[in-house]
Amino acid sequence: MEERVVPVEKKIVQKFAVSYSYPVFFTEHLFDTSNQCLRSFLQSKSVQAERKILTVLDEGMLLHHPALEQKIQAYLHTIPGFVPVQESLVLPGGEQVKNDPVYFDKILQAINDDKIDRHSYLMAIGGGSLLDLAGYAAAVAHRGIRHIRVPTTVLSQNDSGVGVKNGVNHFGKKNFLGTFAPPVAVFNDKHFLTTLEERDWRSGIAEAVKVALIKDPLFFNWLEDHTEALNHRDEIAMQELIYHCAQLHLEHIAGGDPFENGSSRPLDYGHWSAHKLEQLTDFSLRHGEAVAIGIALDVVYAHLIGWLGKQDQDRIIRLLQTLGFRLFHPALQDDAILKGLQEFREHLGGELTILQLKKIGTGENVHEMNEDKIRKAISRLKEYGNR
Ligand code: NAD
Repeated sequence: MEERVVPVEKKIVQKFAVSYSYPVFFTEHLFDTSNQCLRSFLQSKSVQAERKILTVLDEGMLLHHPALEQKIQAYLHTIPGFVPVQESLVLPGGEQVKNDPVYFDKILQAINDDKIDRHSYLMAIGGGSLLDLAGYAAAVAHRGIRHIRVPTTVLSQNDSGVGVKNGVNHFGKKNFLGTFAPPVAVFNDKHFLTTLEERDWRSGIAEAVKVALIKDPLFFNWLEDHTEALNHRDEIAMQELIYHCAQLHLEHIAGGDPFENGSSRPLDYGHWSAHKLEQLTDFSLRHGEAVAIGIALDVVYAHLIGWLGKQDQDRIIRLLQTLGFRLFHPALQDDAILKGLQEFREHLGGELTILQLKKIGTGENVHEMNEDKIRKAISRLKEYGNR
């Protein structure tokens, strides 16, 4: 029997555009009462009724800034129309806060107990992990609470904290849960960087190398010229790096596909193996340390497939090594690392799309990777590791 085609009887097309804009401030001693930055920002918001501010703090950061909680309370009390909730919520820093759902619940509990509504603010102060968690909780509670970020690590100031993504890990997979939810403002306070452990100072530089490799060959030259300054924790060099890197990230997000509807994720260059490596090492590697290895792996791979010249390959490897990154981890030899490709694809959906370099500053997408060549690239990294 012939099948009858049922016509669409009616259709309404809904269409609207929402534009986003948020400032990223660069300052020092944000919570000194003489610092106008946050005060001016909040005062620029019209306030009909009193607005609450719930502060979520990274415990690892707070250990080095023990007077911070009192300073925040004192500072916020000077802003008419805004009241801090009585107690800040202090949560562990580092990846554990994204791994254990108990911390997500703690933020929701505080939002509920303190009656934080959509006209209130959640202000998160900490590293990329705490900001990712807090941004996620803020985005889903009451369908979205205004969210202020105060990133306190190099990586969160130059990369994760200035963007639009948040998330937590689930099923052992990085950022399995999360949303695209721009903050209302970001405040990068350089004073926080003075108390970072060596590895946290360094690991954020991996994201700067990444963005230079995919977008800005002159910035790559700048990084080569400033390795010594960066290794000696020169604050001026670091500020220049953070500002430039944040700018490149923000331009990229605004320029194309902010909510990643397409298949291409150039800002995730080197990340397919990095995310898997973090999981395989039980998160003993910092995100930036894993990214440095992931970049090195894709750089050697791009050379092996005949895309990237030897000179460029050697320059990139040398830069990463001079910055103090280890480019090999035994977990790379676990064949499970190859599952990173599949998981990377699944995370976005659609076709596997991975950027590979043609030269420093220029890449092109590939839709498959050769497993033998990946293994060969890993063997090369092992040789680099033994040098
Ligand atoms: P982190 O947040 O894990 O922090 C590392 C350590 O530094 C923690 O122990 C923390 O307590 C401590 N710390 C934080 N600030 C400090 C300070 N000022 N002084 C001393 N110690 C301090 O590390 P990270 O590199 O900032 O962030 C990594 C996370 O960011 C990963 O989960 C990664 O997936 C995520 N990330 C997210 C995006 C995004 O777009 N949302 C992008 C890149 C990375």
